[in-house]
Amino acid sequence: MKDTNKHQGLRNQLVKQLQDKGITDVNVLEAIRKIPRHLFLNSSFEDFAYQDKAFPIGAGQTISQPYTVAFQSQLLEVKKGDNVLEIGTGSGYQTAVLVTMGAKVYSVERQNELFKSTSLLLPKLNIRPKHLSFGDGYKGLPQFAPFDSIIVTAGAPIIPQPLMAQLKIGGRLVIPLGDKEQIMTLLIRKNETQFEKHEFGEFRFVPLLENKN
Ligand code: SAH
Repeated sequence: MKDTNKHQGLRNQLVKQLQDKGITDVNVLEAIRKIPRHLFLNSSFEDFAYQDKAFPIGAGQTISQPYTVAFQSQLLEVKKGDNVLEIGTGSGYQTAVLVTMGAKVYSVERQNELFKSTSLLLPKLNIRPKHLSFGDGYKGLPQFAPFDSIIVTAGAPIIPQPLMAQLKIGGRLVIPLGDKEQIMTLLIRKNETQFEKHEFGEFRFVPLLENKN
């Protein structure tokens, strides 16, 4: 579990690349500058950890590309102390970015293997989400709702109704929508019944799967 000056140097370069690609939120960039992404990957990928790419993390899943993590985190407009729900904990890297930005993070993962390994890893790195949960993210976490914002980190064929219901008025839901390719979509809740929709180009995610454990 080593984080060296070389790793820090590579992170500084990654942050520059993300700025060149249009990421401007200082809190997002500072979180990415701090978090040792190489420790969220199998050691065989250590040399590549600061490339702007997705990598396998086991159970057929991937850690999202840093640009994607930065883009989604920026769309959330996280403020310190916000309650944020994440669907798809995976490696825990996106969780770590949000915690470092000052959010109280509740995260759900449906692959037991990843749920267990990430639950062990995060405390070792002194990253403390409010709650990690093993289960089906389509249902959200009603016991902790409402949330200031919700981030889905897998490609969703539809917007799960429970997630819309668990969003505060004024809250933001960021979700990649589509089958093979996804359109990054932001919903802002205007009132009890109305949501404003914004779309932001194509991304590629592993699929959000329904209850198949
Ligand atoms: N945020 C993660 C991205 C992991 S990829 C990271 O930074 O590493 C997407 C994750 O969503 C995978 O771990 C996958 O198992 C999980 N997932 C897919 N369908 C899900 C569902 N219905 N509920 C919860 N998690 C789900």
